[in-house]
Amino acid sequence: MTGTEVLAEAGRRRTFAVISHPDAGKSTLTEALALHAAAITSAGAVHGKGDRRGVTSDWMDMEQARGISITSAALRIDYDGRVLNLLDTPGHADFSEDTYRVLSAVDAAIMLLDSAKGLEAQTLKLFEVCRARRVPVITFVNKWDRPGREPLELLDEIEQRIGLRPTPVNWPVGIAGDFRGVVELGTGGQGREYVKYHRTPGGATKAEEERMDAEAAAEAEGRAWEQAQEEIELLGEIGAQYDEASFLAGESSPVLFGAALPNFGVGGLLDTLVDLAPAPGSKADEKGAERPVEAPFSGQVFKMQAGMDKAHRDRMAFVRVSSGRFERGMVLTHAATGRPFATKYTQQVFGSERTTVETAFPGDVIALVNAAALSVGDTLYEGPKVVYPPIPSFAPEHFAVARAKDAGRYKQFQRGIAQLDAEGVVQVLSSDVRGEQAPVLAAVGPLQFEVVQHRMAEEFKAPIELANLDYTLARRTTAADAEKLHALSGCEVLRRRSDGELLVLVHNKWRLRVIEREHPGLVMEPLLAGG
Ligand code: GDP
Repeated sequence: MTGTEVLAEAGRRRTFAVISHPDAGKSTLTEALALHAAAITSAGAVHGKGDRRGVTSDWMDMEQARGISITSAALRIDYDGRVLNLLDTPGHADFSEDTYRVLSAVDAAIMLLDSAKGLEAQTLKLFEVCRARRVPVITFVNKWDRPGREPLELLDEIEQRIGLRPTPVNWPVGIAGDFRGVVELGTGGQGREYVKYHRTPGGATKAEEERMDAEAAAEAEGRAWEQAQEEIELLGEIGAQYDEASFLAGESSPVLFGAALPNFGVGGLLDTLVDLAPAPGSKADEKGAERPVEAPFSGQVFKMQAGMDKAHRDRMAFVRVSSGRFERGMVLTHAATGRPFATKYTQQVFGSERTTVETAFPGDVIALVNAAALSVGDTLYEGPKVVYPPIPSFAPEHFAVARAKDAGRYKQFQRGIAQLDAEGVVQVLSSDVRGEQAPVLAAVGPLQFEVVQHRMAEEFKAPIELANLDYTLARRTTAADAEKLHALSGCEVLRRRSDGELLVLVHNKWRLRVIEREHPGLVMEPLLAGG
């Protein structure tokens, strides 16, 4: 019974993230997805509202109605009998390892591009993480209502620069800046319906869509329609049809054109997500054995957050549910220590408020409070034991030595560094040469150092001094080769505390090349993407 229920609930879920460069429109799209879904979902249930209200009040109403719920880590969107969990990838300045880890907790990603800019730096970095983890990617070319590039040129850029084969599932009518509508190509090249958009004043929750057959569309759009038809014909010739196997393998990507701001094509994106993105499936444990979704509860911590509530200095662990049914009050086992973990105070954070989550299913995200004993990557389970493989650490590019400003607060210093390490705020490295008093902090983004400095001073009352080190890359090595590398200049070997890996830090890629050339055979393996 429970197994059947869990299977059905998992089947209704799609857990995904949006990867993009700042300003491509992630916030706008997120809001448009939520509002569009709510409009569709409530259309069947409630009768139409008389007056149009602003977006803000819609937001708040939706939160109250639980149609959607906002946590700082995940947005739940109810859509047409489905549950979409949109995990937040912190962007902008706080871009760091956190962002990458979120991608270990999703089953699909939407790559959001600005039609005028195409692939940008941060999108590329995030895409590399998706590729490494074989996360299927759906591409949404945004801002088609503004002047931008040619659609075929954008497809070409995706294929040439990242080797992802684009397979359009819709095609724009009207060049960027003169967006009339889209031809729905469908996934088998079968559908050819034209959807014409009409702007509704004041940024509507649901743009007016008018469906037409080819004849009416040709009449309405004239030359723009002809051009779209020519381009679609070309797509057929170059074999750009949707292909499920290569999409799921992360080798091809369904592409949609749209504009989040006026809500053009957002419904199509929701439908594509529901139809094509995979539902939560079984997950391999550290030995490679698959734990099916209907097995007893299991989940993995993918994000830790501290100090969300100033009044109670607490620590939250965000867990992506992998299998089973979660119920508040369950006592789980913390795989790393074998200790019980009570979930009486499981919460979801709604904006600034918190509400209690009672049940969750595979694909959902739950927030556990008082979670200081947990670390990023930890497994929690019920029933038969399971340990999921650690979430890979990403290649750090910034390194600094940390020292306690006040030697008398050394104990607090050690505790703080250990805690921040467990939360994954920064990677902590050490070596006999440098000693325990002077750990080396390694970060993907330099902002991570600022967070460490701030929290060490405020939370652990152990202010630190950071001295930047002149290294820019790290490679993995072995104990045998560490000795040999130790003797060379321009590099240094340290041990990562969290997993015991030996990392060799190198000044720059030219120095790395020299070492590799002069000492062939030394193990210096690249770490997972980052830059
Ligand atoms: P983020 O940094 O990726 O979250 O981007 P935002 O959602 O804040 O959007 C950046 C800017 O682009 C804002 O001024 C948006 O209003 C604008 N924008 C986003 N989507 C569209 C779109 O589809 N069309 C137009 N014209 N502007 C858009």
